[in-house]
Amino acid sequence: MLAASARLIDGRSVAAALRRRVADRAAMLPFRPGLAVVLVGENPASAVYVRNKDRAASEAGLAVQTIRLPADTTQHALCAIVSGLNADPTVDGILVQLPLPAHIDSGSVIAMLDPAKDVDGLTTVNAGRLAEGQPALSLDAPDGVALAPCTPRGAMKLLAETGIALSGARALVLGRSALVGRPIAAMLLAADATVTMAHSRTRDLAGECRRADVLVAAVGRPEMVRADWVAPGAVVIDVGINRLADGRLVGDVDTVACAAVASAITPVPGGVGPMTIACLLENTVAAAITRRM
Ligand code: NDP
Repeated sequence: MLAASARLIDGRSVAAALRRRVADRAAMLPFRPGLAVVLVGENPASAVYVRNKDRAASEAGLAVQTIRLPADTTQHALCAIVSGLNADPTVDGILVQLPLPAHIDSGSVIAMLDPAKDVDGLTTVNAGRLAEGQPALSLDAPDGVALAPCTPRGAMKLLAETGIALSGARALVLGRSALVGRPIAAMLLAADATVTMAHSRTRDLAGECRRADVLVAAVGRPEMVRADWVAPGAVVIDVGINRLADGRLVGDVDTVACAAVASAITPVPGGVGPMTIACLLENTVAAAITRRM
């Protein structure tokens, strides 16, 4: 139980509201936005993610096709499928579920994606646009340019829920992956925060974290962020999803302890996780509107 002062940021309800908005917007279109999800191999976690994406996309009124390929699919065959989806006018978003089997060069598959359909925001074109500070495409910003990665977008939406003024705030992003840490840092910078990125070589990690008004943890280490790393009143966004040996799912933050210090904090599960799929649906509908209208 969280006998603490921090407000728990309810990612499930924020995500549900966004999914409803996406469904309402999709219903107003003269066509059904199309999402293609490509899953190669039998990774059980990926299979669960893909099933959830499939269901959520259908519920939002999208035309979703899931292409399941055997683990021994060749790079050539996978690239041919991506090319076909790039050329298919009914497909507005393409998501290649990662990780791909080891014999496939993920980078060159991602590089093939049409940036206009790259709803996971992984291509160098979209990452570059975000890094340049170009605005992200969304239902609220139909003139946006970058298709931005879904988990970072979800994290930013939860930050917005807290009402914190990001302009001038000190933000610390723990983790520098291309999928999470770097894009979140770019988004925080675009929101005029003063951003520090921390990683495995950072000296005095606890001290860096303690200086932050906004602390985003995307590190993949169970409950690594302790209460004495958090400044009193800071907002803590926990992107981590870690399965412990006893089956429990925990984040990168010791939620119970940190909730006694923070002003707002995301739980795991039920925080950033549900936002990822909702933002994928939003990206797909926004990409469809941009491409087709
Ligand atoms: P990566 O493994 O790609 O990156 C981890 C980052 O953390 C790296 O930059 C690494 O530093 C840094 N790091 C690792 N160990 C330490 C340490 N001891 N001290 C300081 N920094 C450290 O992970 P991802 O970014 O892909 O994912 C991060 C977390 O987010 C994971 O728990 C993952 O499951 C979760 N996740 C959740 C999603 C969601 O939908 N909510 C979606 C995607 C990810 P360095 O670069 O120096 O190696």
